[in-house]
Amino acid sequence: MKKVDLKLSFEFFPAKNSAAEEQAWDSLKKLENFNPEFFSVTFGAGGGERLKSDSFVKKIGKDSLVPVAGHLTCVDMSKEEINDLALGWFEKGINKIVALRGDVREANKKYVPHPNGYINAADMCLGLKKLANFDIAVGGYPEIHPDSKNKQDDIDNLKRKIDSGADKIITQYFFDKDVFLRYRDEVMKAGIKVPLIPGIMPISNFKKIKNFSAMCGASIPEWVASEFTNLDQTPEVQQFVGASLASDLVKKLKKEEVNEFHFYTLNKYELTFAVCSRLLSLQSNLNNEQNKGEVRA
Ligand SMILES: Cc1cc2nc3c(=O)[nH]c(=O)nc-3n(C[C@H](O)[C@H](O)[C@H](O)COP(=O)(O)OP(=O)(O)OC[C@H]3O[C@@H](n4cnc5c(N)ncnc54)[C@H](O)[C@@H]3O)c2cc1C
Repeated sequence: MKKVDLKLSFEFFPAKNSAAEEQAWDSLKKLENFNPEFFSVTFGAGGGERLKSDSFVKKIGKDSLVPVAGHLTCVDMSKEEINDLALGWFEKGINKIVALRGDVREANKKYVPHPNGYINAADMCLGLKKLANFDIAVGGYPEIHPDSKNKQDDIDNLKRKIDSGADKIITQYFFDKDVFLRYRDEVMKAGIKVPLIPGIMPISNFKKIKNFSAMCGASIPEWVASEFTNLDQTPEVQQFVGASLASDLVKKLKKEEVNEFHFYTLNKYELTFAVCSRLLSLQSNLNNEQNKGEVRA
């Protein structure tokens, strides 16, 4: 049996103020202990948010030994503006990018490409790959993207992103392992061979996740919702339950030979730390068993 390494990555967002920035940085430093493949920083299309993303990406690039991936979205930006940001990172030794279409800020408004911008994530991949040797991740949607007409349309769009040069896929979060496993089958059937990394969202606040999930098309199974019944007034208990559910999910995926995980940390380390500790302990037990087997053989 081949020994496998776990590959972990952790997503952050640019903090709103200096206190939040400190908290995010503290979390990032704690999660460095897991020797992740990369940290990633989300991108907000507004001018102020754009600058915050840019400076957080550069700070991680400068002050952490872990590689950083900057997210970029097409919303409200010309190709030139996006290329300048990406090249600014590249000049500082940052070559990882998560290329996304993005969403319009106003609720119920449809995405329309910027007149001089990249049309969508696939178009951005093409453009960035021409610029420099970027290592690009794109988004994947196990429960299909809300703008996709159907499953096939969604997979075709994913395939276009890979054909445009994307190197890996990070998925939207999901709570049922079978949702991911079915998606993995469909992705493989489409001939897509790049790594497919499940996005894991440990639930720290059920109400917030429920609202967000409704917008991004991630379903919450009844059995997950029921775990949070009567926990509205006890946020700390919700965290234990959230960590436990995420832990169960990654262990089930690990058994299905999933060895790479991307965590949506929401800038807090505690739940992600707990889940990764348990995952690593599972991995080390598996390795020990394998070693014993090899010695016996
Ligand atoms: C791992 C991950 C990280 C993310 N990070 C961020 C982030 O940092 N910032 C942020 O704002 N959002 C982020 N998002 C959310 C993402 O921007 C939204 O899900 C967005 O709606 C789709 O982006 P995409 O890159 O998947 O789009 P694409 O793959 O380009 O397209 C998604 C859907 O839109 C349709 N579509 C594409 N182009 C057009 C067009 N021109 N007109 C109409 N429909 C079109 C496609 O057919 C497809 O159904 C992230 C999502 C994931 C999975």
